[in-house]
Amino acid sequence: MKCLQCDKAHFVEQKVRFNPEIKGETVEVIAPCMVCKNCQTPLMNTKQMNVLRRASADKYRENHKLLTSSQIIAYRKELGMSQTAFARYLGVGEASIKRWETYFIQDSSQDKLMRLKCDEAAAEINFLKIRWKREEPNIYSGNVKFNFQLFKSVVLYLIEQTNTSILFLNKLLFYTDFYHFSKYAVSLTGARYTPLKYGPCPDQYKPIYETLVKSGCLEKIDDCSYKALVSSDPTLFEDREKETLEFILELYRRWGPQKILNASHEEEAYKKTAEGLVISYELSKNLRIVKT
Ligand SMILES: [Zn+2]
Repeated sequence: MKCLQCDKAHFVEQKVRFNPEIKGETVEVIAPCMVCKNCQTPLMNTKQMNVLRRASADKYRENHKLLTSSQIIAYRKELGMSQTAFARYLGVGEASIKRWETYFIQDSSQDKLMRLKCDEAAAEINFLKIRWKREEPNIYSGNVKFNFQLFKSVVLYLIEQTNTSILFLNKLLFYTDFYHFSKYAVSLTGARYTPLKYGPCPDQYKPIYETLVKSGCLEKIDDCSYKALVSSDPTLFEDREKETLEFILELYRRWGPQKILNASHEEEAYKKTAEGLVISYELSKNLRIVKT
């Protein structure tokens, strides 16, 4: 295998974010891909193409609240049925089941049929209610659209790794996004932050955490702490996002929560933003945690 750009033959497998178009809509997925060591040009093999096709179809399904391929498989297996039996049970062709369990997207009436016949109580969690999701990216979101799935995974990952309370968790989230912006000119999650009495916090963090509780991801232990009920999904992170998270966690281990909290109160981002306003990511230039 040779690079199409520079003709060199050294590749490494990396997880990369793709934005393929599915049924006229752009979706966002992280998938493995070969990347040229010399010039960074990506190249995919057949297996990686199939992974990307299925992941893209699943992302589209997620966005349209359709069952994903693995949910369809799980439904079928719960009923203890083969693909043939499941097809007969639903009254559809066996080929349809085979395709739906990979990358052929079922239409909404077929989806409804599966839900009705398999699980009438299939819970739907309407993440779209989150106000942030509707806002366009700008300097207050770190130049990217708020990515709820990514934010959720960062929250779960930080809780898993630190068991820290909301007070400190909010500071870790702030530093994760602002540090990432200072390095790459984009924030990691697209979250907006506001200066509150106890330091910089994600804007609207209370309803967001409540949504995570309702969806069964977090359990509220008391007013200031949560327990993670599901694992974070590390496949959602790009390599450089993982590096940012490791940097923040390493800092947490060395400094401890209190010193990070104190530092956050000294940041320009916190001090130069009036109460009730959203912090501009432009103020991420001189972060105190970077100088150490
Ligand atoms: Zn190359």
